[in-house]
Amino acid sequence: LLTVRGLHKSFGDNSVLRGIDLDVRRGSVTALIGPSGSGKTTLLRSLNGLSIPDAGRITAAPSAHPSGDPGTKTEGGDAPLTLDFSRKTTKRQRFALRDRSAMVFQQHNLFPHRTVLQNVIEGPVQVQRVARADAVERATELLERVGLGEKRDAYPHELSGGQQQRVGIVRALALRPELLLFDEPTSALDPELVGEVLTVMKELADEGWTMVVVTHELQFARAVADEVLFLDGGHVVERGAPRQLFREPREERTRQFLHRLL
Ligand code: ATP
Repeated sequence: LLTVRGLHKSFGDNSVLRGIDLDVRRGSVTALIGPSGSGKTTLLRSLNGLSIPDAGRITAAPSAHPSGDPGTKTEGGDAPLTLDFSRKTTKRQRFALRDRSAMVFQQHNLFPHRTVLQNVIEGPVQVQRVARADAVERATELLERVGLGEKRDAYPHELSGGQQQRVGIVRALALRPELLLFDEPTSALDPELVGEVLTVMKELADEGWTMVVVTHELQFARAVADEVLFLDGGHVVERGAPRQLFREPREERTRQFLHRLL
């Protein structure tokens, strides 16, 4: 779905990504793990054009989904999209890249003065020009799917943190993206609320959504990811199937990192 080659990004003297390669297969779950400041969030944001790399290339395959979830955004498919950051990319290219994915943030960023339903249909109606009735129908269906059908008309402050974050996920799903990006979606939650959000994410993975997840939840990565990338200092130090990477890391740095957390 997405091919990333040689991605570099610096903020001033701080070189945050130093040549990242990544392949995201359709229907796969990729977990990005690593110490604080290793570049995970910057990499994730690069995948949807929120952060603009200094060099490297991102190619997105043509979207060619049949109707039905996941990823029903474009009927019939369109052209592959290549952004070469060593040259200048256009806003249009970056928007095209952004359109293919939806991001779930650490903080849900819901509009406080709008109901759950209004929050969810905002993107489809305002940005994608979906008919309101259709957006409401889909939003309702998605909210029911994550157990929040009855909270449709509630305001964000009336929900628990875990419920708010589930609305955040529904809001992303409502955009019918091809790729779901999660930036530490549970790290701002009280421990007892983490499970309900991870459960929804696991269900999405089982349904075949393509997901890239920055996470400190190593158990989740181990159980759900198809591939885990361990980043440190802007490099992918090691990548592999979770079974291999967690049980028999090849690199000393991976071993040390896991040892501290497991
Ligand atoms: P964490 O787990 O703490 O979120 P991370 O691995 O996601 O860390 P990034 O958020 O990608 O790491 O940040 C990597 C480095 O880039 C950090 O040193 C950070 O200070 C720096 N950085 C990130 N965004 C910016 C920005 N907009 N301007 C300047 N520096 C930035």
